[in-house]
Amino acid sequence: MPSHNLARIKIDDLEIIGYSVAGEETVVAMPQLDVCFDIGKAPDQVIPINNILLTHGHMDHAAGIAYYLSHRNFCGQSPGTILAPENLIEPIKDIIEAWSRLDGNRIPANLVGVKPGDEYQIKPNLFALVFPTKHSRGSVGYSVIEKRKKIKHEFAKLTGPQIVELKKQGVQIDNPFEIPIVTYLGDTQYVDFSQLDYITKSKILIAECTFYLDEHTQRAEAGRHMHINEFAELIEKLQNEHIIITHTTQRTPLRQILSTIKKTLSAEKYNKAVVLMAERKEHF
Ligand SMILES: [Zn+2]
Ligand SMILES: [Zn+2]
Repeated sequence: MPSHNLARIKIDDLEIIGYSVAGEETVVAMPQLDVCFDIGKAPDQVIPINNILLTHGHMDHAAGIAYYLSHRNFCGQSPGTILAPENLIEPIKDIIEAWSRLDGNRIPANLVGVKPGDEYQIKPNLFALVFPTKHSRGSVGYSVIEKRKKIKHEFAKLTGPQIVELKKQGVQIDNPFEIPIVTYLGDTQYVDFSQLDYITKSKILIAECTFYLDEHTQRAEAGRHMHINEFAELIEKLQNEHIIITHTTQRTPLRQILSTIKKTLSAEKYNKAVVLMAERKEHF
């Protein structure tokens, strides 16, 4: 019996499962990529995922760290890997240590401190790129990029043995290229993310848009979150095929959030956007 009802969105062969309400819980998993952005309260469905990409230390995003690690150990799985801003590694170690003492069992963990500009290998062809966000000290977002190679045009008609021969001679027969699959912004105030090409061109953008009403403009600024007007300005600069909106406030009814999104975004962007929690399926 899963511990949570999670929303589920399918885009081609990729699934996005998660839960995201501001101040309550944010956890967004992509099982086929073996990554989970933030851990929320560690719902059972994300425990088998090997890589947790933590954006910042707020409780609604990070509360489940110790349970995730401990439950994997309990189930006989390898220690989970947690990527987190490097300034959070010490406090995360403290929490794991405190829970180990409380529980009476050592909790194995693979903790990786990251900073903007870092690249972390998830699978042979899959990498997480780290970029800065503006929310709390050291907060970051992640893009997941697939790296492939394409044979150069002039060698396309060669036979297998000819290619092997060229490789032996040290000839570079292919060109590397990168496909940005998904970008997760985490919590952030408005930043012109279009300056980063891999964000602009990510097939999927998962972005926070917390506030919707005019009277919540100050609240967005104070909490370093995005208001719908800023969000609309941002996505106009980007080229993502799919936009998933997370971290919606509980202060505004979902119905009103959806109608505000419709009247604020351009038709082109509106057609590409969904609110994660509006896609929520009961008993998933
Ligand atoms: Zn949050
Ligand atoms: Zn936060």
